[in-house]
Amino acid sequence: MNEAKVEEKQVIGKTKLTKELEEILPPTHVSTDMYDIEATSGDLSLLSKYHYKFKKEYQATHVVRPGTTEELSNVMKKCKEYSIPMTIRAAGSSCYSSSTPTNGGVIIDMRRMDKIYEIDANNKTVRCGAGISWLRLIEALLEYGLGPKCYPTSYKSSCVGGFVVTSGKVGIGVLKNGIMKDAIKSLVFVKPDGSVETISRTSQGDLTLDDIIGSFGIFGAVAEVELEVTSLNTSIEMAGYGFKTFKMAAEFFRTLKNNDAHKPFFLSLSDKSFEKYAHWTYPARAFFVYAVYSDDPSATSQSVSFAKDAASKLDGLPVEDWYLKEKFRDIADTEVNVGRWCQNLVFQEYWVSDNRIEDFYNFYMEKTSRQRYRNAFYLMSGAKGGNRIKLFGLSDIKDSREFFGIKAVFNDITINNYENKDSLYTLGVVNTFYFLRFNPERAEYLMNLKNKIDPEDLVNSYRLVKAKMRTWRVGLLFWIAKRLYRTA
Ligand SMILES: Cc1cc2nc3c(=O)[nH]c(=O)nc-3n(C[C@H](O)[C@H](O)[C@H](O)COP(=O)(O)OP(=O)(O)OC[C@H]3O[C@@H](n4cnc5c(N)ncnc54)[C@H](O)[C@@H]3O)c2cc1C
Repeated sequence: MNEAKVEEKQVIGKTKLTKELEEILPPTHVSTDMYDIEATSGDLSLLSKYHYKFKKEYQATHVVRPGTTEELSNVMKKCKEYSIPMTIRAAGSSCYSSSTPTNGGVIIDMRRMDKIYEIDANNKTVRCGAGISWLRLIEALLEYGLGPKCYPTSYKSSCVGGFVVTSGKVGIGVLKNGIMKDAIKSLVFVKPDGSVETISRTSQGDLTLDDIIGSFGIFGAVAEVELEVTSLNTSIEMAGYGFKTFKMAAEFFRTLKNNDAHKPFFLSLSDKSFEKYAHWTYPARAFFVYAVYSDDPSATSQSVSFAKDAASKLDGLPVEDWYLKEKFRDIADTEVNVGRWCQNLVFQEYWVSDNRIEDFYNFYMEKTSRQRYRNAFYLMSGAKGGNRIKLFGLSDIKDSREFFGIKAVFNDITINNYENKDSLYTLGVVNTFYFLRFNPERAEYLMNLKNKIDPEDLVNSYRLVKAKMRTWRVGLLFWIAKRLYRTA
């Protein structure tokens, strides 16, 4: 930014910007209230709380809630005119400060862009605003006997646009119907300068669907989404088995995952601690695999029988019906429930290939077996080949040694995972330095594109292409943390 622009930005001041934004949006949807700003700045990982404690200038000055693509475009044009940073935010459920401001400016809360423009039941498509929650979309499609092909287990709050840009590779429906990218027909996209473009699978412009998926919003905002949807199945059933060893559980998991005749609608693997923290009660055995099947009644029951046969060959013990009911009911809350047990839930999410699940687990055990903190392990299947593993550390907010000690363990596991050609699942602001270090080629590609589309780095800065943290500083911090935690 040149000096004149810096000066201009300072002169504009909060009030002038507020007034100009109020000309674009209904004034009730332009807020400078500090509680409103706080409520749209944090996430479950609590990391943004640490950031703002030390770096007040990261915090935004405004929250705006556009309701249409035109309003969104005009807000972005205005911010661009004055070089004001913008942070795009939906439900904030992706964590790691993904939708958290890092550069001041304006938070663009997408959740008013929640209209359904068209449901075409014959062609099985829907066109809606990107800020609609999955739950609302599911309810609207239900009227037509339709459902989304895939969606995250956070569907109660998280929004369609949030799943698109965080990659949408894992969740409900992905194994049976494909990942988010497969379901997208087109997107209406607003670039950092406010220009609006429709991007489909065949688009040849500056940005392709591949660039936007997994972009964490660095290239602009998804305003509208056109999706392929699917007919609802007439039956749904959950199967659950407990195993004595991780090896057996992982083998069973892969057997279910890779059987094309009986594709699960949802599939997970968890350890006993996860069951204990995530539910009110928990069954015996050390490891658990849960599969949801959904099809017509006869196909569903054949799939459940297939799971039963496969489990018996690996000494799998069926989970009682009453617990399966609780499990099924809790599918959307299970990860959040772990937070009930502590004041400061620390977690990290990894993308791990099918054939490396055991190696990952063994390394995790090696790193945590002598640690005192309470932990939990949860794996959710992605489409063929990959999985999201979420590690939890239950920490006390007053015990910062423990907090940093857990982060140091996660750091070792992250490095080991990248060295074995796997990666982190969610990047956001706080994990970007790993991405830059271990994926330099992809980072360079994204950086070149970012320079072209958003040369001032106004939209969602410090994600994927530029890090707030330095690798050596983080390394030093964790080195010290490990020693302090051990002596605590
Ligand atoms: C309990 C729980 C369960 C989860 N289950 C899953 C799961 O099954 N699968 C999975 O993949 N993830 C899962 N997640 C992670 C998270 O919920 C998903 O990534 C979700 O899709 C994020 O949506 P959101 O609306 O909360 O987006 P946010 O967290 O608000 O935003 C995520 C990122 O997208 C950007 N963004 C949001 N909307 C737009 C837009 N319209 N245009 C451009 N950029 C945008 C933001 O700037 C940010 O970088 C889970 C999280 C929790 C807490």
